[in-house]
Amino acid sequence: MFAGRISRIAHLVSCLIGLIAMSATVSAQQVSSAAVAQAPASTRLILLGTGAGPVPRKDRSQPANLLVVGGRPYLIDAGNGVARQLAHAGFATADVRNVFITHHHIDHNADIGALMSFTWIEDNKRNRPDTPPVRFYGPPATAELVAAAQSFLGVSERIFRSGVPMRPSAQRFEGHDFSVDGVVYRDDQIVVTAAENTHYHHAPDSPSVGKDKSYSLRFDTPGRSIVFSGDTGPSEALERLAADADVLVCEVLDLEATMKEVEATMKLPPAMVPAVRRHMAEQHLTPEQVGQLAQKARVKMVVLTHFSPGVDGQTDVSHYVDGVRKHFKGPVIAGRDLLEL
Ligand SMILES: [Zn+2]
Ligand SMILES: [Zn+2]
Repeated sequence: MFAGRISRIAHLVSCLIGLIAMSATVSAQQVSSAAVAQAPASTRLILLGTGAGPVPRKDRSQPANLLVVGGRPYLIDAGNGVARQLAHAGFATADVRNVFITHHHIDHNADIGALMSFTWIEDNKRNRPDTPPVRFYGPPATAELVAAAQSFLGVSERIFRSGVPMRPSAQRFEGHDFSVDGVVYRDDQIVVTAAENTHYHHAPDSPSVGKDKSYSLRFDTPGRSIVFSGDTGPSEALERLAADADVLVCEVLDLEATMKEVEATMKLPPAMVPAVRRHMAEQHLTPEQVGQLAQKARVKMVVLTHFSPGVDGQTDVSHYVDGVRKHFKGPVIAGRDLLEL
């Protein structure tokens, strides 16, 4: 486990010489909750999960990212494994009081209930009734999912509280839906701006149309702007959102490798294969499309994440980086779980 300062210097050097940050796993700084509160004002980006979903894998956790601004952590997406990844990064789930969900595919929201459950336990351990509730911000149905997770937690809570007089979880968790582009959150440190992207192309008669939306999110912090693409196809709204950003944390997909993996592992009826290919081709980004996006938006750095297919045992991801570099001349980093930038 490297010290945080060393890891940050290592990444800076890596960026400057334009190398792919894949030769060594650089773990996030291990910090105690007390240290979090005392950290100086700065913006740390920690990749918690860099795999595409929805199938859990050994080598990459499901999508999640952490921004730590002035010592305060903000979570972006809550894919499966996020609570454990937070522990690896030196945070308790209860340190996180603001969570942002880009969209409600299961790989991005599966652990909302786990986060709430462990935070309820941790809040009771800390016994600080003045701690604010945990607020989840996301597309339509975020409040519905938080309410459902509260119901899920309720069974365990009933059992715990039968033996120990713990504080109830009621009013400790809030879900806030947003459905319009623009500023969706603001506090004394950050401004979060959302732009609906092109991840959902549903048939006009599907039950999702008019209900579900997928967003890219931009975080402007003191001295740093970081954009999370979420899942998306090519999107002019994302290009505008990412304009001149310091960092674009962007999904990436190898279409042919993904389809090969789909066909090898999913026993789909042959008629469904073209529909899956269309989803992959139109609603995600190839390395070349990431490069075009980054070049048009004039971002200063690209960090690749949400690797698809992201199979276990893949140590060489240079072709993803090479594809981006065909169009974007700035630094391109191949993300890994717990990489800090
Ligand atoms: Zn995804
Ligand atoms: Zn998705």
